[in-house]
Amino acid sequence: MYIRGGILITVDKERRIFKDGGVVIENNRIVKVGKREELDKDYLHHSDIVIDASRKIVMPGLIDLHVHMAQAMIRGMAQYVRLIPWLRDYVWPLQGHYTKEDGRISALLCMIEMIKSGTTTFLEVGISGRYGMEGIAKAVEEIGMRGVLGRHVMDTPGYALEENIIHPGLVESKEYGMKEVIHMYQRWHGKHGRIFIWFAPRTPGAVTIETYKEIVSKARELGIGITMHLAEVKEDLEYFKKKFNCKPVEFCQKIGMLGHNVVLAHVVWVDDEEIKLLAKTGTHVAHCPSSNMKLGSGLTPVAKMIKSGVNVGLGCDGGPSNDNYDMIEEMKIAALGQSLINMDPKALTAEEVIEMATIRGAKALGLDKEIGSIEEGKKADIIIIDYWKPHLTPMLNPITHIVYAAQGQDVDTVIIDGKLIMKNRKILTVDEEKILEEAEKRGLNVVKRTGIKPAINWKIVE
Ligand SMILES: [Zn+2]
Repeated sequence: MYIRGGILITVDKERRIFKDGGVVIENNRIVKVGKREELDKDYLHHSDIVIDASRKIVMPGLIDLHVHMAQAMIRGMAQYVRLIPWLRDYVWPLQGHYTKEDGRISALLCMIEMIKSGTTTFLEVGISGRYGMEGIAKAVEEIGMRGVLGRHVMDTPGYALEENIIHPGLVESKEYGMKEVIHMYQRWHGKHGRIFIWFAPRTPGAVTIETYKEIVSKARELGIGITMHLAEVKEDLEYFKKKFNCKPVEFCQKIGMLGHNVVLAHVVWVDDEEIKLLAKTGTHVAHCPSSNMKLGSGLTPVAKMIKSGVNVGLGCDGGPSNDNYDMIEEMKIAALGQSLINMDPKALTAEEVIEMATIRGAKALGLDKEIGSIEEGKKADIIIIDYWKPHLTPMLNPITHIVYAAQGQDVDTVIIDGKLIMKNRKILTVDEEKILEEAEKRGLNVVKRTGIKPAINWKIVE
C-alpha cells in the first residue's frame, strides 16, 4: 500500500513533518517514509493500493488511553452530578442491568465512533463479567482495532469512604475477577499483535490492600499492565488520609502499584511530591479533561507533570462523562484546560498534545516500539485527515489546525495494522448500520429496565 502525497506528520524521533510526503506499507508494517517525488519512482506503479492523500494530513493513529466501552450505550443518562452520585445513582445501576450481548454491542458502537474520529488503539479500563469479556475481545478482533482490555477486579462494593455503593449487578468476588483475567490472558493476550489483556482493579474502597498486592504480583508474573482510577475527586484525598494516613500516590507506592507497567487515570488531586514520585517510578498518567470538567472534579496538572518528566497520555473516558469518544476534540480540550488553569497560553503546546495522543499513549501501553509514530519498521496504524474544508483551509499550520480546528469527522481514512479499516468515512470491517440499530434497541431497553430518566428540564411533548 502506498499513501501518496499530503502533509505527513511523522512524530518520529526528529519530529519531521513532510510537506508532500509518502508512506509505503508492506503487510502490517511501514517500510518506507519520505518525500512523495522520491517514492513515486518506485511505488506509484508497483503498489497494490495507492491512496491519494493530497490536500490531506497523514499522521499516526490516535491512542485513547482511558475508555469505558460499556458506557457508549448510556450516553446522556447521567447529568449535573458529581462523581460519586454519578456512579451510584446512574452509571452503575444502568451498567448493572447489562446483558453480555448489551456489552458486546456497546463495545462495537464505541469502537465505530473511535475509528470514525481517528483512534486506532485504546485502553479499556473496566470490564465486568456481565459485559461478556469474551464477546468484547471477539468484537475487537472482528473490527480490526488494537485494544488493551483491562478487566476489573474487586472484593468489596465501595468507593473511597462510601461503603456498599456498587450496584449488586456489578458486584463480583475477587476469585471470579482474577480467574477471568488469567483465562482471558491465556486465550487472547498478544493475539494478532492487536489484543492485550490487563488488570483494571477497581478504585480504592472496592479493593483490599491484600488483593491489590496480589494483582501487582500476578501482573509482574504475567508481564502485563495495570490500570486504575486514582485521585479523580477531592473526596479521594480524605479517604487516603483517614484510612491510610497518606496521599493517593503514596498509597500506590505502598501496594507496589507504581512503575512502567502502570497507567493511573485522572490523577487530579496530587501535589508536587507525588508528581516527583510518578516521574521517578516511570508511572504513566491518563488525562481525561472533558470528564473532569463535566463532573466538576478538578483538572490534572498536566503541564507540570510533563515538565517534571511524567509520561501523560490522553483519554476520552466514557459515554455519560464526556459525552463522546472523539480524541481530536479531546486534544483541544486538553490544550484549553492547561491554558486556563495555568493562565498561560503556552502551558501545553499543540505539539505536546499531539504527542499525548500518539507516542506518549503508545509508551504508556508499552507499545512505543511498535506504534505511536510513522517510522520505518513500525506497525502501520495511520489516519488521514481531509483538510479541504472551510474550517481547515488554508492549511497554514498543520499542528495547531489538528489540535484547535479539526474535528473527529474530518478523519477520512483509517489504517490499522496495515489494513484499511475505514475509507472515505465508510467502515469496511463491520456493518455500521446494523450495529446502530442494535445499539438503539438495546440502549433504550437497558434504560427502560432501570427506570432511570434522562435529565431534561424542558417540557417533553410525546
Ligand atoms: Zn474512567
